[in-house]
Amino acid sequence: MSALDEHLITITQRPDTVFVEGHGAWLVDEAGKRHLDLMQGWAVNSLGHSPALITEALLAQSQRLVNPSPAYFNRPMLDLAAALSRVSGFDRVFLANSGAEANEGAVKLARRWGSRHRGGAHEVVGFEQGFHGRTLAMMSASGKPGWGSIYAPMPTGFAKARLNDLASVERALTPRTVAVMIEFVQGEAGVVLADPGFVRELRALTREREVLLIADEVQTGVGRCGTAFAFEHYDVEPDILTLAKGLGGGVPLSALLCRERLNCFEPGDQGGTFCGNPLMAAVGLAIVNEVCRPAFLAEVHARSQQLAQGLQAIVRDHGLVGERGLGLLRALELPSDKAPAVVAAAQALSPVGLLINAPRPHLLRLMPALNISAAEVDEGQALLREALRIALG
Ligand SMILES: *Cc1c(COP(=O)(O)O)cnc(C)c1O
Repeated sequence: MSALDEHLITITQRPDTVFVEGHGAWLVDEAGKRHLDLMQGWAVNSLGHSPALITEALLAQSQRLVNPSPAYFNRPMLDLAAALSRVSGFDRVFLANSGAEANEGAVKLARRWGSRHRGGAHEVVGFEQGFHGRTLAMMSASGKPGWGSIYAPMPTGFAKARLNDLASVERALTPRTVAVMIEFVQGEAGVVLADPGFVRELRALTREREVLLIADEVQTGVGRCGTAFAFEHYDVEPDILTLAKGLGGGVPLSALLCRERLNCFEPGDQGGTFCGNPLMAAVGLAIVNEVCRPAFLAEVHARSQQLAQGLQAIVRDHGLVGERGLGLLRALELPSDKAPAVVAAAQALSPVGLLINAPRPHLLRLMPALNISAAEVDEGQALLREALRIALG
């Protein structure tokens, strides 16, 4: 228990630090200490902390219109849907507030389509270790060990296969299967990449069985992987796409995208009080227009090459197991379960701390701002080496 907190419902252990300010790659705590942030709100702050683009979009939109109600069109909602359609090739967009909510919408849309066109098919096949969010249904869809029982009874209709194992997908498919839901890079599982060959075969198999392919790009989408979307790396076309995290650049915003033939909700089937509100949509529009430019994405790719090479050198020099990732979503595998100790040592570094994340006990995850500078990447690596020396000895 932290001495700082007497009133929050306890959900996790946090360090005894209160962050008060952030600019670009840097976060400042109440004591005035600066931290180089290679976590960025869990891959959320695409342009770093407090970018002018977001401040300006929020200011301008908040002075014009904050919320006319989801019963009416508003201009940022229409413009963001059009921008997402243009950069993704998907026809239709539903805006929501979190990744879990977009994914719930994806499953609802797939089930709606299944009820109309596939004789009531409704089951969704996900993957072991997968992560799709924390609503009850998304906990069922996720493959996190233990998640089937903490809040039992859980929503049913979710089967599991193993990533990169097509035979396991074939075993999980039944005549009632309406969709397969995949993360091309399992972020929470520890930056585990789907094999290109597996993804191509999965796409062929789902097409053949008239099963929809839902790509959960909540973490990988909107520039994170050095392309606008991770599906471009795999050269496949999903039927349904979900985005969140980086889409809002730090504000709560998510999107569900689909092909025209899946545009099958009846009025009243889907909605939400804050869905498509102009304040968040204005921010998303500014982010998409900035991040999905070829010149911006080329820079993301260059920084990701630099970071990957630096991490490979760290692996050699510190005797680690390996480095992996796609774009600026990267992980370092340690030979022991010391990742939490490295995270703590990194934050405690003085005079400047380093913020990184340990999604698994033996794994460090780095997801810097997409516009991090080459000098900041170098500085992050130097700080990481220091933290590794302290924590691994
Ligand atoms: C973070 C994440 C989610 C959940 O998003 P929330 O905004 O926390 O609901 C879903 N899927 C993936 C792949 C994620 O990384």
